[in-house]
Amino acid sequence: MIIKLKQDINASQHQSLASLINNLGYKPTYVNTQFGKYLVSIGKKEIDLRKIGFEAGVEDIFRVDDAYKLVSSQWKIGKTVIDLGDDVKLGGNDFQIMVGPCSIEGEEQIASTIAHMKLNGVKIMRGGVFKPRSSPYSFRGHGIDTLKIWSEMAKKEGIKIITEVMQVSQIEEMMPYVDIFQVGARNSQNFNLLDELGKVDKPVMLKRGISGTIEELLQSAEYIFSNGNEKILLCERGIRSYETAYRNTMDINAIAILKDKSHLPVIADPSHGIGVRRYVDKIALASVAAGADGVIMEVHECPEKAVSDGQQTLDYGESAKLIAQLSEIRKIVS
Ligand code: PEP
Ligand code: MN
Repeated sequence: MIIKLKQDINASQHQSLASLINNLGYKPTYVNTQFGKYLVSIGKKEIDLRKIGFEAGVEDIFRVDDAYKLVSSQWKIGKTVIDLGDDVKLGGNDFQIMVGPCSIEGEEQIASTIAHMKLNGVKIMRGGVFKPRSSPYSFRGHGIDTLKIWSEMAKKEGIKIITEVMQVSQIEEMMPYVDIFQVGARNSQNFNLLDELGKVDKPVMLKRGISGTIEELLQSAEYIFSNGNEKILLCERGIRSYETAYRNTMDINAIAILKDKSHLPVIADPSHGIGVRRYVDKIALASVAAGADGVIMEVHECPEKAVSDGQQTLDYGESAKLIAQLSEIRKIVS
């Protein structure tokens, strides 16, 4: 059960509501976000919601059967829309494409990617400066100094930045330079990181774990929301399966299901989703047909020379063609 509290609820109203919930055999957790105040109450007994609905300080009350609560579509009216400023929004009626390299390699690459984006009307640039790599000998990213340069260049051109944060200690130093924090697949259940990202007022795109279920992804998102941050994007990026013909199995089903089960925007990552350059366009289009609110894809001037994930990266020509096709599919399904 979610109790939406009035913004001006006072301490004594709060106290008496919490004891009422306790007496009904429910465990209340107080959640204070940038948009609202909630009392998430967990319990098994059937209770008459009217007993709570008329209490002082209560704005509304919702029964939520899902294991995850605040990110569930069972209570929120309408979809979450994430506003990055400068008229760049995500979710609801607002569809966004995010492009850029797997890893940020340097100023020349940043400038060339931004030029490609501007030519094709793309407003959000992706790229990693802290890279999770399976091998410790692989390139692990250029780090914070490169993020600072990237941010300066992007701001000048009105481009927003999404980049991966790998650990709690990086949040603060990255904060001024990013528009969306990305949580990678390998950190999808790093609950300490999720807790801390719940305490900042900055959008977070949470990727599904390599072998994570849809419910686990939603529970991870619940960590962020219940710590105070409602600005969450869910990302399907493929899961590990028995198939060896491609890198990951893009779970298109998950896109449709996440859109139904949650009010949060859903982003598709077809690059990691299939991991093979020649199929990325098809999977991207299928994702939008399934209802994705956005697509994040790896793009590089010369994928053959990319320092990471070149095998799943599109060149500018392929990217431009796909961007145009994505907008067409979006028109049909929205
Ligand atoms: C990436 O976006 O480059 C990345 C490492 O993604 P994932 O966490 O999905 O593997
Ligand atoms: Mn990558």
